[in-house]
Amino acid sequence: MDITVGGLVTELKRQFDAAGLPQPQLDARTLVGHLLDISLTDLVLDPGRPVVAGDVERVRLAAERRCRHEPVHRIIGHRSFFGLDLALSQGTLEPRPDTETLVNAALPHARAIADKSGTCRIIDLGTGSGAICLALLAEVETATGLGTDISLQALQTAKDNAGRNGLAERFHTACGSWFEAVEGEFDLIVSNPPYIRSADIGKLDPEVRDFDPIAALDGGADGLEAYRAIAADAGKHLSAGGHILVETGFDQHEAVMDLFQGSGFVCTGRFKDLGGNDRVLSFAKKGKP
Ligand code: GLN
Repeated sequence: MDITVGGLVTELKRQFDAAGLPQPQLDARTLVGHLLDISLTDLVLDPGRPVVAGDVERVRLAAERRCRHEPVHRIIGHRSFFGLDLALSQGTLEPRPDTETLVNAALPHARAIADKSGTCRIIDLGTGSGAICLALLAEVETATGLGTDISLQALQTAKDNAGRNGLAERFHTACGSWFEAVEGEFDLIVSNPPYIRSADIGKLDPEVRDFDPIAALDGGADGLEAYRAIAADAGKHLSAGGHILVETGFDQHEAVMDLFQGSGFVCTGRFKDLGGNDRVLSFAKKGKP
């Protein structure tokens, strides 16, 4: 008997259920839909569509990877972030919807600076897939961006993502730790640095622990090492009237505020993510408007 798309979705859902995955139905539909290039609507409305043997094989191989806890979008190879389609690689963290909070918090600053001065120079420290910087560039047409990362593979993915979203001309990269490979001033410093305490890495979901790069997760013994490094050098690289925005762990707002306040900055905003957790802080230089 012919295998249908509906039959495949049901088969995967059962398999994912048995593997104890939290969202078996959604994962089954997303994988089948993306791998066979069928919209969610068509999957639901036309489940009787037959699937050729080679496609069945591809979907089953993908399902095996999911059962080993590889995230759906790593299997597919790309995902959407702030309306952009971004490729993922082993060198990049998978962009999270929570990180859109940072983009939303940074956008009014980027727009105001660009309106006033004709451009907004953005630096994204530890850019990974380029998600934060590219989302801001897509929204603010006159802005320019520099993405830094210690991973050359991440920078290659970020460049590819700039290209696939028509942003290559305004996006550049520099390889190094935080500001190490950076000269000059920026109007907006943004970062989603690693912020998990080293001892907590083992407790993360396997989807995160085994598939996101450890360098993008591990924030050192207290989870704050990256903020220390960024706060120490940010003053040299922030223009007058510029802003810094960082993503943080849900329990790190006070500690990160203390760090930046100790380095000559004032906190100008606190933002929660979609789950209501503390997630983003913004800072400006002390004594500046
Ligand atoms: N938010 C990530 C998580 O799911 C951590 C990302 C980071 O350390 N910047 O754990």
